[in-house]
Amino acid sequence: MTPAAVFLDRDGTLIEEIGYLDRPERVDLYPWSIDAIRAFNRAGLRVVMVTNQSGVARGFFTEAVVDQVHRHIGGLLEAGGAHIDAYYYCPHHPDGKVARYARACDCRKPSRGLVDRAERELGIDPRRSFAVGDRWLDIALARAVGARGILVRTGYGAGEEARPQEGLTADAVVNNLVEAAGWILRSLKC
Ligand SMILES: [Mg+2]
Ligand SMILES: [Zn+2]
Repeated sequence: MTPAAVFLDRDGTLIEEIGYLDRPERVDLYPWSIDAIRAFNRAGLRVVMVTNQSGVARGFFTEAVVDQVHRHIGGLLEAGGAHIDAYYYCPHHPDGKVARYARACDCRKPSRGLVDRAERELGIDPRRSFAVGDRWLDIALARAVGARGILVRTGYGAGEEARPQEGLTADAVVNNLVEAAGWILRSLKC
């Protein structure tokens, strides 16, 4: 069967939201993140990070730094027996300062480019998949690709919950990623 995935936001969802994360040492996993990712792994779901990293376009850090951060996250997860199958990010922003990244693109969430890439490269079926994040744009991404969208209250999530978006509802609003994992695993059973 075509694999389903959890499209996982990074900042404010998997790790603490600290603004522009420019050094691997500043990565701070939430205490439940390893358990949550391991639960997805065991359930046979692919875990695909999808994250907007406009700091690249803004000149705050390079793509090499983003890759270092992701290798560091990978190492922390691996030490707990968990893994993320792919790390996808959008380095662009229309108002960026670095010319090669300063443009509108189809991969900055809520646009669906990163999910399309997962479909192409990993054979994932988005319509059987889930998106988890702390921003309405993560839920809008879910809607755009036909996945279910779960808003977590970590990061910007509690503030987002307090500002409902016209015409956009999450399939679930939960306290954090491990609660999102519980919701997703239950929904797989029915
Ligand atoms: Mg986020
Ligand atoms: Zn992009």
